[in-house]
Amino acid sequence: MSTTTPRTAPVHAPQTGFPVVDGCLQVGGIPLTRLAQRVGSTPFYAYDRRLVTQRVQHLRAHLPAAVELHYSVKANPMPALVQHLAGLVDGLDVASGGELAVALDTGMAPQRISFAGPGKSEAELRQAVAAGICVHAESEREIRVLARLGEELGIAPQLVLRINPDFELKGSGMRMGGGAKQFGIDAEDAPRLLALAAQLELEVLGFHIFSGSQSLKADAIVEAQAQTVELALRLADAGKDPVRMLNIGGGFGIPYFPGEAPLDLAPIGAGLESLLPRVRAALPQAQLSIELGRYLVGEAGVYVARVIDRKVSRGQVFLVTDGGLHHHLAASGNFGQVIRKNYPVAIGNRMGAGDTEPVSVVGPLCTPLDLLADRMELARAEVGDLVVVFQSGAYGLTASPGGFLGHPDAREVLV
Ligand SMILES: *Cc1c(COP(=O)(O)O)cnc(C)c1O
Repeated sequence: MSTTTPRTAPVHAPQTGFPVVDGCLQVGGIPLTRLAQRVGSTPFYAYDRRLVTQRVQHLRAHLPAAVELHYSVKANPMPALVQHLAGLVDGLDVASGGELAVALDTGMAPQRISFAGPGKSEAELRQAVAAGICVHAESEREIRVLARLGEELGIAPQLVLRINPDFELKGSGMRMGGGAKQFGIDAEDAPRLLALAAQLELEVLGFHIFSGSQSLKADAIVEAQAQTVELALRLADAGKDPVRMLNIGGGFGIPYFPGEAPLDLAPIGAGLESLLPRVRAALPQAQLSIELGRYLVGEAGVYVARVIDRKVSRGQVFLVTDGGLHHHLAASGNFGQVIRKNYPVAIGNRMGAGDTEPVSVVGPLCTPLDLLADRMELARAEVGDLVVVFQSGAYGLTASPGGFLGHPDAREVLV
């Protein structure tokens, strides 16, 4: 006997941010076909500034006002976008000397810019001390170099210790804390390095504790935030300086794949609210902050490529576009995914068309890895149509191997 269970294919979370007018997607209020002409060539990334602004407002509406919001520049370092965000958030977090330059150009106050990342070079640390930004020291070496540079430059370095916690954010897409890691100072080693900093006459302003990234589970984030605060309270007892800055990380995810739902901010806001009295009592001078990258910009961006060929191979339709993994590694499934899943993809100038077919969207690179959509049901497309990859505002162009196969760069616009 055989039974058949009806199966409904899981669908992508709806992309409601970009309106559709007369079957054409609008980005920043401009029809995609017109935007493509304005940009002048495909492929390109387009970021919608209104959606970024709305996302910040959405966060502010749910998170306690006492918690500062920082933007993690590596998610998308496009200068115009960072400039836009600088006017909306309370701080910018950078992870290289190059990002530091972009952050400083926005005019954000230096003490509101922080610099984390393993392996900061002496040149980068010198830039940071000279700029007066806050360095998140991640090793004994960095602490010693900062002390020496402080003396050399006659400037007291602003520093926070980045701690590798003894727990991790459950269910996060990328683990960046807990266990053995190249990031931060192991929590159990922090007392020794706090003593070293004191001996070197460095003032430690506080702690940065980042436990993970890309989580869609509010309860896991709430739990990690509570553990982070507990850890900070223990570390504070080991240091001599009052804690003035406490960056408890981020980890807020966005839905990329079929079946994933947007993160519910309400429990996270409530969780943070419940932690505040304890922080205020134990660390009265501490300014609490969270740092978010993809959550702020990921859903505000699309990648757009043009169909340059339409082929049928043994019954399977392939749309070959001028864009691919060299601009958008993540959408091809090669940026950290274990099992490849399709990003949300559509034919931007044929939205809602009734005539659909299963197709694979591939790029021009001579490798089977260059796949933007694997057998998805899309509007029937022709040469010249515009393929859109949603959820592309973070870890897109700068997280892709642009030099691979020598095709032209993608442009970027903020509209
Ligand atoms: C990359 C990074 C972030 C941002 O992660 P998202 O998943 O983009 O929010 C935040 N903090 C640190 C320390 C990072 O390295």
